[in-house]
Amino acid sequence: MSILRSAGRSCLCAFALAPFTTVALGAQQGTRSPMPGYSAAAAASERALEADAIRRPDPARARTHSQALSAETHVSGTPAQERTRDYVIAQMKAMGLETEVRQYDVFMPHPTSVRVWRVSPGTKELSLAEPAVPGDPTSARPQYLTVNGYSGQGDVTAEVVYVNYGLIEDYAQLDSLGVSVRGKIAVARYGRSFRGIKAREAEKHGAVGLLIYSDPQDDGYVRGDVYPNGPMRNRNGVQRGSVLNVDGDPATQGYASKPGAPRIPESSMVIPHIPVVPISYGNAGELLDGLRGKDIPQGWQGGLPFRYHVGPGPVRARVRVTDDRTTRGTKPIFDTFGIVRGTEFPDELVIVGGHRDAWGPGAADNVSGTVSVLEAARAVAEAVKSGHAPKRTIMFATWDAEEWGLIGSTEYVEDDSLRLMRGGVAYLNQDVAAQGVRFDGGGSPSLRPMLRDIARAVPNPNGKGSVYAEWRRASAVADTAEPAMGDPGGGSDFAGFYNHLGIPIAEWSFGGPGGVYHSQYDDFAWMSKFGDPGFVYHAAAARIGAAMALRLANADILPYDYVEFARTMQTYLPAIDRAMTAKKWGGSTSALRQSLTDMEREAGLFAAARDGALAPGSMTRARQVAVNTALLGVERALTRPEGLRTRPWFRNLIYVADENNGYANMVFPSVNEAIRAGDERLVASELADLAQRVAAATRAITAARAALQ
Ligand SMILES: [Zn+2]
Repeated sequence: MSILRSAGRSCLCAFALAPFTTVALGAQQGTRSPMPGYSAAAAASERALEADAIRRPDPARARTHSQALSAETHVSGTPAQERTRDYVIAQMKAMGLETEVRQYDVFMPHPTSVRVWRVSPGTKELSLAEPAVPGDPTSARPQYLTVNGYSGQGDVTAEVVYVNYGLIEDYAQLDSLGVSVRGKIAVARYGRSFRGIKAREAEKHGAVGLLIYSDPQDDGYVRGDVYPNGPMRNRNGVQRGSVLNVDGDPATQGYASKPGAPRIPESSMVIPHIPVVPISYGNAGELLDGLRGKDIPQGWQGGLPFRYHVGPGPVRARVRVTDDRTTRGTKPIFDTFGIVRGTEFPDELVIVGGHRDAWGPGAADNVSGTVSVLEAARAVAEAVKSGHAPKRTIMFATWDAEEWGLIGSTEYVEDDSLRLMRGGVAYLNQDVAAQGVRFDGGGSPSLRPMLRDIARAVPNPNGKGSVYAEWRRASAVADTAEPAMGDPGGGSDFAGFYNHLGIPIAEWSFGGPGGVYHSQYDDFAWMSKFGDPGFVYHAAAARIGAAMALRLANADILPYDYVEFARTMQTYLPAIDRAMTAKKWGGSTSALRQSLTDMEREAGLFAAARDGALAPGSMTRARQVAVNTALLGVERALTRPEGLRTRPWFRNLIYVADENNGYANMVFPSVNEAIRAGDERLVASELADLAQRVAAATRAITAARAALQ
């Protein structure tokens, strides 16, 4: 998961917290509200159960798991990654959980050779490997070659052009300077977008190769001391990572890559066709220092100790990449599940998951998330052993091949879509769960009040009150507001659940400064020295996971908050109004505004009726099923089967990753993409469509209220 607003951001395979949403909560603020979805008596025993589960995750055990799972580079499709599968399954079996492994066979070429040279001035082959550092034995172990996942193959020699971040607007700037990358090797710095967008734009503009480097201004010495003296990226550190721009196996878009499923030929896949190689800033300096030509536009200077130039040339480079696509392009991947069957509503599913693959040892990304899932599972398993089996089914999942394009979770969601659409209550994601002290949380607005409530019950590892109290202090919000929470953008395993199926999601993590993202140095030594030396934040993330899972699984009535949901949606309307006014369009958001106002009112009525109906013994199971079935339909109604016009797989109309950025978030994408396209009539029809879907969601809330009586 990437938290873009943290200094030296953590994992860029994350959800963007871009437009921060702060919702004033009025009367509820500051007080411990009753527990939505529970009667007073049930709430008391649930709080006791959660308090017990919150105590169970253990820093010493988290440390042991972390060391075991980060002992070696475990890239998806390798024997080392099969060993992490076996470790997780053995742990879950030992807890007494029912386990399952699902295999998918996906197109995922691995490199066989990656080389980069400066060929002018003077010929010099760049040393791409990340050298071992003192005091870090894992750094001396075998590494994965430094190539971006789904790079094309090739052997190209050309002049170099510096393209800043390689964004659409950077190429527009180059156009205005009269500089083209056609036939050239582009050098882009990381940051400001998902790297797949950089690869797409370089290829679109005619570059024959792309080198992406980590500028010291981004996560290197400009930010702090570098590894091993500090947590930031050293001159040899490399950010690997995928440049695939679709979610899931590119050979089976929209359906699961099960054995025997039809595959499209490689020539039809949406994958890059030019070699794309990540390099360190030490190596980037060898190429950028000698560039001449036009002076750089404002803002293009990075942190290397010389004046940057755009080129082209006179520096020339050669990039050569070969992989195994013709001999072993398709590889098996493995998702794991540890399952606790629900006693009353076994078909309703609460899923806690994190990806298990990495580009290196992956202590932060994502051994920390895997450890959080494991320790949360153990806490819930202990509750079951003490006689408190959950009412709903809880599944603890670890996903393979997230790093290549959210593949393991996407294939699973496509595989189980009917079951998930019917019974998926929530997906709780753990990606880079612990690599610092600063809490961040986010997800669907319907789950945010619950996450805040549980953060109040979990002690902050620094000993200063609760996670919630420390979060408030660190975010310095006004007394009348809650800390900002992130909206689901792109870049982690919630995407299939949220964007494709409309299942509410939540995620949380503890972040901090770091520059080892997707590097060999994201390992146990780094984590023990800088990220989470006591492994106490690993345990804290697991405490939240265990309590969240139990809260969702045991509620009589599903504890979604559609008042906060509707209020949050209303905050997105003024930006749409301003955009339409700026374009002198005649349309209006008034119908959508009205339907959101109706939704908020209806949600308030439902909440009041629910709390009254939950007197002990007053609700039959049949009525609970009727109410919960209606509630499961609320956010499903905000998806549409044909999806977004730009991307049919993305059905959810509330949040999506910006297709021109990949990490940043876009709200109301059907409307905002039409605004960006400048299509006034489409904006009007999309506004009307969204208003009708909000009305349908509101009817589901009304149906839930009717079923209460
Ligand atoms: Zn990750």
